[in-house]
Amino acid sequence: MLPPLPPLPAPPVAISAEIRLAYVLRHFRLAYPGAPTVLVDYAGTQPQVEIANSGAGFFATNEPYPTAPNWRDWQGQQVPFFFDNAPEIPLLILRENKAFISADIISAAFYLLSGWQEYFSIERDRHGRFPYKASVQKHYGFVTLPVVNYYFDVLRMAVEHVSRQPLQPRSWDSQQANFAAFISHDVDNLCSAWKAPIKAALQQRQFGRFGKLIWQHLTQPDAWDNLEEVAAAVAQYGGRSTFFILPTRRKALNGTPNADYRLTRQRQRQLWRLEEQHFEMGVHMPLTGDKMTLPNVSAFDLPFHAIGCRFHYLNWEPRLTPITISVNPIAAASKFQYDSTLSFAEHFGFRHSYCLPFYPFDFAVRRAVDFLEIPLNVMDATLHHPNYLQLEPSEILPALAPMFAEIKRFGGVASVLWHNQNFDPANQQNGPRQFHEIMAHLQREGATFRTGREIWQEFTAESTQHS
Ligand SMILES: [Zn+2]
Repeated sequence: MLPPLPPLPAPPVAISAEIRLAYVLRHFRLAYPGAPTVLVDYAGTQPQVEIANSGAGFFATNEPYPTAPNWRDWQGQQVPFFFDNAPEIPLLILRENKAFISADIISAAFYLLSGWQEYFSIERDRHGRFPYKASVQKHYGFVTLPVVNYYFDVLRMAVEHVSRQPLQPRSWDSQQANFAAFISHDVDNLCSAWKAPIKAALQQRQFGRFGKLIWQHLTQPDAWDNLEEVAAAVAQYGGRSTFFILPTRRKALNGTPNADYRLTRQRQRQLWRLEEQHFEMGVHMPLTGDKMTLPNVSAFDLPFHAIGCRFHYLNWEPRLTPITISVNPIAAASKFQYDSTLSFAEHFGFRHSYCLPFYPFDFAVRRAVDFLEIPLNVMDATLHHPNYLQLEPSEILPALAPMFAEIKRFGGVASVLWHNQNFDPANQQNGPRQFHEIMAHLQREGATFRTGREIWQEFTAESTQHS
């Protein structure tokens, strides 16, 4: 039972070429800080980099899906180009002092980065989320390819040609790290590890074992009460991570659970000790069960100052959440500078086909919101779950490695969510061992580990420097 979708604004949202260009070029400059100012435009303004104007008609409609993309080779990689009406013409034509791009990569980048498909689609899953199966990423098979970064790579070559200057992609620290890794933990449960084994013992009528487990539960800490162990596991790689803390135990209207723990004084001191070790605390936004409202975060007495959030169940209503995070006066009381919810629960990869942080688009006011989205690439549950993928432990890293290679190629952020409860050694499917394999891989590949706050600071500091 889902509440109705928020209605679309009337009259239809029409996004002009100027708005699409400004939004996309802003992100291009964030991807290549210090890029020289070059006029990139459609024909008519005598631009130095001219883009084929193939997308115009589409953005006057409220259609969720454009016509099928045309696949082209770009430096050895097959890449889908939407709004590509002239596949017989080479993608990039370089003349003296001028470049022509024969696919409308501005419209295509806008389409994917803005999340147009999910805003205009009416498809939602049982948790009210835009489903992977309704996405162009699933339909055309490119969820693990950061297609917008490839579009920007085409534009980079065009800009380098007309400006005669090499463009430098973003680097993440003084050691010139190839890419950043953002490790985070949604803290849903701290006290419930005992429940499933006790239930199983009872069902199997193993009463001796049942008694032993009850005794353990009463006399020993819960296996999921493990935040220090989680922190130590990350610190082993020289990294720090972000904990998203659920501030309420109250269930959503539809009965979906939120936290299984209370923020007692003892718990608060535990979180402060982690903060002293430079781990970050963010807010795990609870479910209300009501699509029209977000939880009143300021009503919760948070024992820490958070600038980042992620929604429980990766819950995100494209027609409401971006606006509400940025303008809702209640949320403004504890203003969020970044969110890290945007991912498909059903599949790892790139929900907006982009591997750098970006500013989500607010269609109601036709401009970007002012909080940063650090997209999530992989959640532990996605890898092994009855409703999602069913990878064997040995298949996990081989499945993820090509995605991490794409992020490394473009200097992006590899964002990994590993719930604290999956650091329980009893979990041998997507548990601590698989986490360590991923961490060791990221370290070998040269990632620098960053908290969400640090990524937000670095990303916004550079963009003001160069704007
Ligand atoms: Zn959660």
